[in-house]
Parts: sequence; C-alpha cells; structure tokens
Amino acid sequence: MPTSFIKPAFENEDVSKSASVSPLGTDWLKMASGSLTTKLERFLADRLDTPFLAIDLEVVRSQFLLLQREFPNAAIHYAVKANPAREIIQVLAALGSRFDIASRYELDLCLSLGVPAAWISFGNTVKKSVDIAYAFACGVRIFSFDSEAELEKLARHAPGSSVQCRLLSQGNSADWPLSRKFGCDVKMAFDLLLKSRALGLNPLGVTFHVGSQQTDPLEWVEPVRQASELYRQLRHHHLELEWINIGGGLPATYQANLQPFSSYAQTIQQALQESFGSTLPQLMIEPGRFLVADAGVIQTEVILIAQKSYQDEKRWVYLDIGKFGGLAETMDECIKYRLRTPHAGLTGPVILAGPTCDSADVLYEKTSYDLPLHLAIGDRIEILSAGAYTSSYASVGFNGFPPLQTYCL
Ligand SMILES: *Cc1c(COP(=O)(O)O)cnc(C)c1O
Repeated sequence: MPTSFIKPAFENEDVSKSASVSPLGTDWLKMASGSLTTKLERFLADRLDTPFLAIDLEVVRSQFLLLQREFPNAAIHYAVKANPAREIIQVLAALGSRFDIASRYELDLCLSLGVPAAWISFGNTVKKSVDIAYAFACGVRIFSFDSEAELEKLARHAPGSSVQCRLLSQGNSADWPLSRKFGCDVKMAFDLLLKSRALGLNPLGVTFHVGSQQTDPLEWVEPVRQASELYRQLRHHHLELEWINIGGGLPATYQANLQPFSSYAQTIQQALQESFGSTLPQLMIEPGRFLVADAGVIQTEVILIAQKSYQDEKRWVYLDIGKFGGLAETMDECIKYRLRTPHAGLTGPVILAGPTCDSADVLYEKTSYDLPLHLAIGDRIEILSAGAYTSSYASVGFNGFPPLQTYCL
C-alpha cells in the first residue's frame, strides 16, 4: 500500500519551479513530487472559498497532444463522464478530439458546444430505447452493446448504425476496475457480431476496457490477442472487422511510481502489431482520466482535527470535501490522492474524513496517511491530480453542501 505523498509548504516558493506543461504532456515526475503548473499555483494563492476544483486547460491540451503523438492514427474519443466541464470539451474539440458519451445528457452537452454528431460515440452498453432513438435522430452513428437485447434495440432504433461489441475484461491491476458489469465473453461476441450484420447494422469491431487507472500496460495485451483471434474466426464467415476500440484506463499520476507514458503506448502498439500483423484494424481510444486528472487540483480546508480518546494514536482530520462532495473514488480507498499541506516538519498518522453527517464519509482509514503535526484548523490542503471523476461525482446537495465548484483556467 502506498502511503502518503505529503510534501512541505509551497506557499512562499518561487512559482518558476512549478511543473512545466510542455506541448506534449506534463512532466510526470514533477507532478508526482507535488508541483503544480504556474497557472494553478497563482490561482490557488487567491484563496477563494473552498472546496473547489481548478483545471489548467493547458495540461488537458498537452495530454491530448501527447496521446495523439503516441497513437498518431487513432480516433481519440474523450470519455465525457470523466469531467464534463464545457471548457474542457471546447479545448478538446478544437484539437480534433472526438467524444464518447454515456447518456443523452452528455450528448446534448456536446452538441450544444458545436461538436458534430458524427464525432460522437455512445459507448454505454446500457441505454434506454428512447435515448438510442434520440441519439440516432441527432446524428450519432456509433453505438456499443454487449448483449443480444441491446443489439436488438439498436437495430430497431438506430438502423444501419455502426456498432461495437464490448468484451468482458478482468480489470486486474486497475485501481478502479470496471469488470463484470460490462462486456460479454468471446463466444457470445462472435455470435452477436454476426447477428448485428444480419440485423442490418454495421459491425465495426470489439471494444473493451481494462479497468480505470490501469497501471500495468501488459493488461492490454490479452484483450488485444483475444480480439485478433475473434476477428480471424469471423473472417471465415466473411465478416471483416475494420476497427478495434481499446477503451480507456490510461492512468493519471496519483502515485509517484508510474512507468513513463511511452511504455504504455509501446506495449499496446506492440501487442496490436504482434496479434494482428498485416491485418491491423483502425484504432479507437476512449481516454477519460488520462486527459483530465493531472490537469486538476482541489483546494480544501481543514474543518476540525480531533482525537477520539486521550490514548488515540491517530488524529481525525475533517476536510470540507468528502465522498459526497467529489471524492467518490475514495470508495474502498481505491484512488489514493496525493495531498499537499502548508507545513514542513514532523508528521503523524491521520484518518481523513469529509464534512457530512454520514459515517460512510471517511476518505482514508486503512491507507496510512501522515500529515504534519503542525496542521491546524483552517489550513488549506491541496488534493492533487483531482481533475477526473470528482466534479462529475459530486452530489447535488447532500447535507445542503453545493456541488463542487469548478474553475477552468
Ligand atoms: C469510463 C469509460 C471510459 C474512460 O475510462 P478512463 O479509465 O477514465 O480512461 C472509456 N470508455 C468507456 C466505455 C467508459 O465507460
């Protein structure tokens, strides 16, 4: 279990030491050591009301360009659910990104910002018929499915559309696995892809998701191999699949020990080459977290520091953001954010909790986090790499707390 990545005060630090945003990706090492971009540092210094999420759009941009460099021929569909801020969608659309939506509401959002429907895929395999019909009427022509019933809905409400069949995957090594709920096994995929053609749809290929915050690049190898085997079998039935969608899962810098991004790209490209050889299909990617997580920082305030008994060895530190205010991915302590506090010096173990009247609102109890002994009520703490799955997970008003405020810079 990784422990805390607490770094000492940055308040008086020269912002010129901030992490740089090169045109191609952020400096992962500097990010991991707690540096933020100059723009974010300046914004945090304004001490607006907490909690809030600040996003540096330059980082989103550079992450997109990095991905594009490593996967030059891929269609990149940003998974809007990771962070649906309008400014993020606009920045990505201007770079030529496409979009993957989970609902008609995300579709409306993208369309309202001028994204052409032809650039949008509906990747959720669980859709209401009326929403399929709505998306189809709006011009969406790429849909995912993982069951016969969903395929029949698509044939009926999105006739002639392009479809991709989601394969089950294990989600090993992922901090936020998406396994079991989605996908079907290869045997069923074989039948369903043939059936999709019989129903007048246009089968593009398979899609899979190796689990979100997937830290092991080798996890892409097996699903790619499975897909190639499936494509080979389908070729015998004169079904030529021209696309493969390798989903999301690319990681953000929550922990300092991530491999360089190029090794993810290389491993995946190599797996595609080795499995498909001369029959390499066109590539589609659906990154969410990778594009936006490292672009964001949450500033929060310490509301209370307390002990439960005189012998208590751990301090309870209560923040003004918790599981319901945007930190839902601390569920089961899955995502372990790095924290930055305004104090150097000795640290001691803490249990971190949110502000609501719900005992589930504890962020980290099993994972050991150490915070400075000098930490005081009213101090501000920064939650790093918090741009993904935070604002979009915040409750609308549990306990009366408003949803997480987002500022895009
Ligand atoms: C959530 C999701 C993604 C994005 O996953 P990340 O791990 O954030 O990259 C991509 N595709 C689909 C279908 C998803 O549901």
